[in-house]
Amino acid sequence: MSVAGNRRRIGHLDMDAFFAAVEQLDRPELRGRPVIVGGLGPRGVVSTASYEAREFGVGSAMPMSRAQRLCPQAAFLAPRFRRYKEISNVVRRILLDITPIIEPVSLDEAFFDLTACCEDIATALAIAAEVKRAVEETTRLACSVGLAGNRFLAKLASELAKPGGLRLIAPEQVQATLDPLHVGRLQGVGPVTARRLQGMGIVTVRQLRSTDLDLLVRTFGAHGRILHRRARGEDSSPVACSRQSLSVSRETTFPVDVTDPARWETVLRELAADVAAQLQREKLVAHCVRVKARFPDFRTQTRQTTVATGVDSAALLGSIAVELLRHRIETGARGLRLLGVGAARLVESAARQLPLFDDTPGASRDR
Ligand SMILES: [Mg+2]
Repeated sequence: MSVAGNRRRIGHLDMDAFFAAVEQLDRPELRGRPVIVGGLGPRGVVSTASYEAREFGVGSAMPMSRAQRLCPQAAFLAPRFRRYKEISNVVRRILLDITPIIEPVSLDEAFFDLTACCEDIATALAIAAEVKRAVEETTRLACSVGLAGNRFLAKLASELAKPGGLRLIAPEQVQATLDPLHVGRLQGVGPVTARRLQGMGIVTVRQLRSTDLDLLVRTFGAHGRILHRRARGEDSSPVACSRQSLSVSRETTFPVDVTDPARWETVLRELAADVAAQLQREKLVAHCVRVKARFPDFRTQTRQTTVATGVDSAALLGSIAVELLRHRIETGARGLRLLGVGAARLVESAARQLPLFDDTPGASRDR
């Protein structure tokens, strides 16, 4: 890891229970009451539950029918995205007043890079506090802010600060903060990876950190290397301010469910080639690659991985996508009805010197 990587000061701002909080802001009669925002149809899922609703065990991505059973007295509301977007833009402008390097992740969440505008961590912390105050005062909504030396730790810091807090993870606190956490708290460790780690006797980050890198790579492929780094709090990926597309993706629905893994991989590589072609047209490289798989019962799994060196090559995107499908998605024998490949965290590739016709994964990693 580069020396500069250790000296970065990255912030992460996350609005608390955003959609539900906006509804409570606009309709005072809902304040202090459980509010659940999401799809209200028969297959609807919860987008956001207010903290009052969370006390009943309601959480994001839960089927709405289950939320109704757990908390029947809640106000159930359909999302009003235009209103959320309006507030999101206000937050974005506040961040842009501080630094031009911001990366909105979703309507309620953004990274911001304070490295260039703060001499030291104390100044950065004061600015992060000011950002939080300005956002809360302007929107009249609560947010949590994390500050650390990289994106992964900044996001973890804002999670640990919730609700309504500001949290710094200073370099000397990184390991003590991470070690006691459940591995599932690490970015990149979904339920499948967490279960497999548990099967290896690895439950806490401390246990993951003392696990041999070779064993992790043998078990998880390239993702094992990321697990090894995350357990040490390492993440060199930049805050990516994107110019146009926030992400580029392609997906395909099969006319008949496909059970042949070789066929899945061929399709993934074709989709990756399409994504790569668009990235190259727009002169962008991706720092995040995603794979989406939908099963015959319509359940959908999405897995993603970060890439320190931006990618725009069909071969590398394809290989990463195949790795994600092989190691991170529980495909079983069920077959798939849809596959998709996405590239996100896009940055301009203009500054990079690209050798022509160089499309091999090994060479791409070395750039
Ligand atoms: Mg949020």
